[in-house]
Amino acid sequence: MVMFEKESAQTRESSATAMPSNKYSAAIMEKSNNMTATAAVNGDTPPAEGLSENDSGVELTNENSPLTAAEPPSPFSPKQNGDAASPQDGNQCSRGSRKRSRKRREDEESTWDSDKSSGASQGLRQTPRPRTIFQAGLTSHAHGKPRRQSRKQEHGTSRCPGNPRAPAVGSGGVPETPRLELMEQDSKDSAQSTSTLSSSETKQEYSDNKGFGIGELVWGKIKGFSWWPGIVVTWRATGKRQASHGMRWLQWFGDGKFSEVSADKLDSLTAFPKFFSQASYTKLASYRRAVFQALEMASIRAEKTFPPCKSNSPEDQVKPMLDWANGGFLPKGEEGLKPTHSANSNPLEHHVLDVSLCEYFPSAKRPKLSLCKSKAAPEELCNREQMVNEVLKNKRSIEEFCLSCGKTSATFHPLFEGGLCPTCKDVYLEMSYMYDDDGYQSYCTVCCGGREVLLCGNVNCCRCFCVDCLDILVDPGASDQARYLDPWRCYMCQPLLRYGVLKRRHDWSLKLQEFFANDNGQEFEKPKIYPAVPAEQRRPIRVLSLFDGIATGYLVLRDLGFKVGQYVASEVCEDSISVGVVRHEGKIKYVHDVRNITKKNIQEWGPFDLVIGGSPCNDLSIVNPARKGLYEGTGRLFFEFYRLLSEAKPKDGENRPFFWMFENVVAMAINDKRDISRFLECNPVMIDAIEVSAAHRARYFWGNLPGMNRPLCASGMDKLQLQDCLDHGRVAKFGKVRTITTRSNSIKQGKDQHFPVLMNGKEDILWCTELERIFGFPVHYTDVSNMGRGARQKLLGRSWSVPVIRHLFAPLKDYFACE
Ligand SMILES: [Zn+2]
Ligand SMILES: [Zn+2]
Ligand SMILES: [Zn+2]
Repeated sequence: MVMFEKESAQTRESSATAMPSNKYSAAIMEKSNNMTATAAVNGDTPPAEGLSENDSGVELTNENSPLTAAEPPSPFSPKQNGDAASPQDGNQCSRGSRKRSRKRREDEESTWDSDKSSGASQGLRQTPRPRTIFQAGLTSHAHGKPRRQSRKQEHGTSRCPGNPRAPAVGSGGVPETPRLELMEQDSKDSAQSTSTLSSSETKQEYSDNKGFGIGELVWGKIKGFSWWPGIVVTWRATGKRQASHGMRWLQWFGDGKFSEVSADKLDSLTAFPKFFSQASYTKLASYRRAVFQALEMASIRAEKTFPPCKSNSPEDQVKPMLDWANGGFLPKGEEGLKPTHSANSNPLEHHVLDVSLCEYFPSAKRPKLSLCKSKAAPEELCNREQMVNEVLKNKRSIEEFCLSCGKTSATFHPLFEGGLCPTCKDVYLEMSYMYDDDGYQSYCTVCCGGREVLLCGNVNCCRCFCVDCLDILVDPGASDQARYLDPWRCYMCQPLLRYGVLKRRHDWSLKLQEFFANDNGQEFEKPKIYPAVPAEQRRPIRVLSLFDGIATGYLVLRDLGFKVGQYVASEVCEDSISVGVVRHEGKIKYVHDVRNITKKNIQEWGPFDLVIGGSPCNDLSIVNPARKGLYEGTGRLFFEFYRLLSEAKPKDGENRPFFWMFENVVAMAINDKRDISRFLECNPVMIDAIEVSAAHRARYFWGNLPGMNRPLCASGMDKLQLQDCLDHGRVAKFGKVRTITTRSNSIKQGKDQHFPVLMNGKEDILWCTELERIFGFPVHYTDVSNMGRGARQKLLGRSWSVPVIRHLFAPLKDYFACE
């Protein structure tokens, strides 16, 4: 089943490469400049990591590896830490709009108020503190020169104000870098390739003669992942530690996250034709974004300008840049891309991405458009301020506009009254179920963008809203107010009122289903509806389960009381098979690799009444930047499902009820989703296990199960709260937990990566039995063949959520024999 969790932007953490988040700010928090704070945070984590590491073996090795790309820690808290804040903090604050704040509250606050002392002393839970994250480009300044008072001004001074493709460069045309980096340089040696930098400070880091000095634009490669553009940064920007010998800290374009990468796995950005992947570019918004940002910075450095593009299509706009890159970045070539500095600016100033440049690509949405009003076709309403004006003053319907960019809407926004244009819809489909390391959404709930976002303070709400959406859609001062509210509740959690032009749909839950199901006019015939079978004629169900995992299908069928006539399971993981064999007493026929199953096999083992499966998703999940998509790698296994489904289907003239279901992650590229839908000839329904369990788990389900798209309803037996899943003497710090993946770190919650349980006053991991309850399995279900915790979480992390499958299978009771 699912092997690569789409929610886990944290997958990146282990793989250090997923690039999807646009929380560029996550890249640099101001404390990443503040050594004290960094140290404090580092002090926070070891016990946790130690624990999980010991427990779960292999998979954990990555988590502490140099490749770890977790956000730099240490939220800045004006309330708590304000006094201790460094002068730099003050500076940065004074730059106001340059700061990206994420206001969060510690979920544990409300549930664990009674234990203040232990919490505080362990740093488990401090009072709710607005976490201030500096956007990558926002940590910047040039020797205290107050360059940009506000984002708008900044854009106003853009060197290409009319060009929607390349606006956001400061007056100097250069991104800036945190001041502390200058002050805390302590390394002695110089990196060769920093020769273009005059400052001695810059020569002190990366002194291994391997080149790739601070500020260089590069392609970077991490094991298991594809080449991705990034910029070499000082370790100080990362909030971590100095790079090991021969390694470089990279900040990735696209999401601004950091990884430590071997200098041997770097190449100059000028090797563009060699490393650029057209396939990824076509399919992956995150990759497009990254490439665009890289080229944007390159063009600034090379002082390359492009003629204004008449088209509104991002593709058209970016094409000249791609051509330029593929043609060798002429006329200046490699020389032009070198980090530059002007006399009065900080030589380090290129060392951190100014990701504010181009987050609007590819969706061409949000405020950027408002910055290039003059340029935009006058007849087209392309800015959200205008949209708001039209709605409030001219009484036009908000449904006419794209909430995300202000253009004419083509479809509805799933959660709020208003529309979405086709571009923004695709972005929404791809991105809205992506979560960051802290379990919060990667993107704004309204616009699926957002360079500065506020995190909802409601326990169990993982949503964030961007400052722009608040200020434009709600009220110009809304974000400022929100910053000081503690906790701030998002517009999904506040009462159902109209806030500015923002109003939650009363039926958003249904609309959300519809939004994900009715994708871009891919219309399919309604599945054949089979009349219910009279009770006395019902026969035991015969099941073919591909990528069976731990026999969740069998378990659920038995739970529901089905007589299972035949359950043929294809599975290659020995541990999974052990679970199925032991727990179901040999009733499951294991047939191993799906690729070896032939038509003849199907005829021998069949006929089947139900074909189910969820093929491994690591090559589909958008979280994986190296994903190969549907047509390569494990993505291809989808076609094995498709092939065997076709074989198992009743032939013409055979009139028997036949059902099937295919599952996969939600955060897949829109093209892959549509391709799968085309093959399976239906659109998926999206189901999030959060509604029937204590953990998030959003999945697409394709199939013809009766009533598949009916609303998910929790039953009395569902354990909806984490507390319901815990053993005695253990107290849940959270009501719900984020998606549990194969990675042990996925049980840590929130920015500060707390373990979700308190026992004897100490934080604790989730025990296997508790994980099993969260997924709806019987306790000890995976406790076979002496598997350790890590192995068991791996099985569970790939598994389906039992109550969700129960919801899907229950209607089959009208067709098959039950006990
Ligand atoms: Zn739009
Ligand atoms: Zn937004
Ligand atoms: Zn909320």
